[in-house]
Amino acid sequence: MANIIDGKATAASLRERMKIEVEDLVSRHGVKPSLAVILVGDNAASESYVKGKEAACKKAGIESTVVKLPADCAAADLEACIDALNADETVHGILLQLPIPKHLNADHFINKIRSDKDVDGFTEANVAKLTIGKPHLVPCTPLGVMRLLTQYSLPVSGKHAVVVGRSQIVGRPMASLLLKDNATVTICHSKTADLKGMCKTADILIAAIGVPGMIDASYVKEGAVVIDVGISKVDGIIKGDVDFASVEPIASWITPVPGGVGPMTIACLLENTLLCYRKFMGE
Ligand code: NDP
Repeated sequence: MANIIDGKATAASLRERMKIEVEDLVSRHGVKPSLAVILVGDNAASESYVKGKEAACKKAGIESTVVKLPADCAAADLEACIDALNADETVHGILLQLPIPKHLNADHFINKIRSDKDVDGFTEANVAKLTIGKPHLVPCTPLGVMRLLTQYSLPVSGKHAVVVGRSQIVGRPMASLLLKDNATVTICHSKTADLKGMCKTADILIAAIGVPGMIDASYVKEGAVVIDVGISKVDGIIKGDVDFASVEPIASWITPVPGGVGPMTIACLLENTLLCYRKFMGE
């Protein structure tokens, strides 16, 4: 039976620690850390994510502003909005909520964000830093996974980590962070030959696929640490990429869904906002 990696509890204690840190920072600098979120259009899921981020900021004592733009907003208007936030000295972190409407080129606008305010770690400048092993602002979800491994004292150095998924927001940065901490890393994707065989060799298996329940016990080595990043809604229920019931008896450690990686993503967004703020304050 696997031990449970409790992301909800870990995120709560991280957030509590940050709240105390914010109090200290504000007392020393007299300025609140502040995050601006740009929301384009009226995607219901995005609106709910943004509300969650606002609530988390508020609880931690971080100022948060949501800048709403209409779904049919012109590229020039979004550009002007990002330029204004880049120049605003009272804003320390900027996040462009994705997805944005199709007529706007997401890559272009992400890279308009000042790299030292890029709390998502998605700009090319921050991706490059991570890729050369000198991370500064890194994507929140893979950062959250690393924080969980640390919290539970699960060793990474020398382990074989298999990451299933190669997206810019999870799989690739996840692999870079594991490599930085001296894991031997294999990245798998939809064209990987013998995916099951690859996964079976993993000491640490990270599933970031988006196919609910795909990773069952036949993909997992006895005693592996299994981290489930996947979030899919099936008949109104949140499901991960890992078939928990089948994998839990053979893994040594496992994250549940919900309550695993998910809560860590927002905690790490706050962490990145504080990183931007500290740098801005010259710390
Ligand atoms: P993407 O769709 O961008 O990437 C999915 C990756 O999985 C791709 O690299 C794809 O391969 C690979 N893949 C898809 N099907 C298979 C398959 N059958 N076999 C092997 N590989 C496959 O998704 P994201 O990275 O954005 O997200 C992954 C999951 O994580 C989703 O469920 C998402 O909701 C969740 N997520 C959770 C977060 C959290 O806070 N917990 C935050 C962000 C995402 P290829 O590149 O070849 O197409």
